[in-house]
Amino acid sequence: MSKPVLVLGGGPAGLSAAHALAGIGRKVLLVDKEDRLGGAPIHSGYAKLVPSGEWAKDAIGAMVDRVTGREPIEVRTSTTVKAFEGAPGAFTVTLADDSRHEVDSAILCTGFTHFDSVNKPEWGFGTFPDVVTTTQVEQMISSGQGVRCPSDGRRPKRVAILLCVGSRDRQIGREWCSKVCCTVSCNLAMEIREELPDCHVYIYYMDIRTYGLHEDAYYWRSQEEFKVKYIKARIAEVTSDGHKLIVKGEDTLVKRPITIPFDLVVHAIGMDPNVDNLLLASIFDVKLEKHGHIERASVYSAMGATSRPGIFVAGAATGPETIDDSIAQGQAAAMAALAQVQGAPVAAE
Ligand SMILES: Cc1cc2nc3c(=O)[nH]c(=O)nc-3n(C[C@H](O)[C@H](O)[C@H](O)COP(=O)(O)OP(=O)(O)OC[C@H]3O[C@@H](n4cnc5c(N)ncnc54)[C@H](O)[C@@H]3O)c2cc1C
Ligand code: SF4
Repeated sequence: MSKPVLVLGGGPAGLSAAHALAGIGRKVLLVDKEDRLGGAPIHSGYAKLVPSGEWAKDAIGAMVDRVTGREPIEVRTSTTVKAFEGAPGAFTVTLADDSRHEVDSAILCTGFTHFDSVNKPEWGFGTFPDVVTTTQVEQMISSGQGVRCPSDGRRPKRVAILLCVGSRDRQIGREWCSKVCCTVSCNLAMEIREELPDCHVYIYYMDIRTYGLHEDAYYWRSQEEFKVKYIKARIAEVTSDGHKLIVKGEDTLVKRPITIPFDLVVHAIGMDPNVDNLLLASIFDVKLEKHGHIERASVYSAMGATSRPGIFVAGAATGPETIDDSIAQGQAAAMAALAQVQGAPVAAE
């Protein structure tokens, strides 16, 4: 009987890799440091997902259900990997509780870390309670409490969503575009307008990157159907006059300073490399790319290969990714892991 494949991380990518392997009868050791599976959409309480419109707890919850209690998959939560040694087909993994397992290969599906907005203090987070993040607003919606100002629980009448917080910002060492936050923010703006039809919602942007097929469904629909207003701007600071939050900046279309009051300001936070990546890179002896994500050995010839044979990577561990792409990468990495164990060449050629 073959050894299991280690899948580290039980978010969308890891759940998909585990499900694909179990589907063809392969044993899987699925390990997650949190006390439950589901990854960011579950741990951070996302509301309705882009682009399916399904609630995260239902869509990702169903992915969790189909790997839970399934015989070839051993799930270990609230633990992580302490050591990893050996060669493809004969690795030994030691978990944090010192239990040792023989595994054929490993797929790293360890995802990302949300940007911490305290690293952008001039935009008011951590200073004013009514400056929040997209994940906080998602939690307000998914918990059923609805969109409120944390300071006093009132319903906001004016909301500003600031894009690219912790992305495309060289001053704070984050040069990448986080890929999903434009579309997620357009969607969130529509959800706020749906819940609070009297609330004015403004989106401050550098560029709008509702890539692919999302342009009309999110960008144009939010303006034409939901009357969300867009301001192309450079934001200088978020302050308060004692009653309202004040967003100050420059309207870069008309090249004039703008100062607008709001009740609630939302940071559309980006996707940082997982804070564990340096440790993971040393335990698994894999390379990181220059921003700190796990490096893929090849873009085309070996989906999911890392710099070390027998160790694969999928999903947002490689850089900002959507859920559907993470799922596809999880399946591709599962296939590559299987192919390698069966002797097929998967290294970059
Ligand atoms: C605000 C926001 C909203 C978003 N909304 C959407 C959306 O609507 N639609 C969409 O397509 N995408 C959305 N995304 C992107 C989405 O979150 C990612 O595409 C998705 O979570 C990536 O899945 P993953 O499995 O690769 O990583 P993750 O979801 O990050 O899962 C990684 C898993 O690995 C575990 N892990 C991490 N480190 C370790 C370790 N050292 N040891 C053990 N386990 C570990 C974690 O606990 C976690 O369970 C959003 C992103 C943000 C920031
Ligand atoms: S997706 Fe949009 S909000 Fe997110 S980093 Fe890219 S441009 Fe900025």
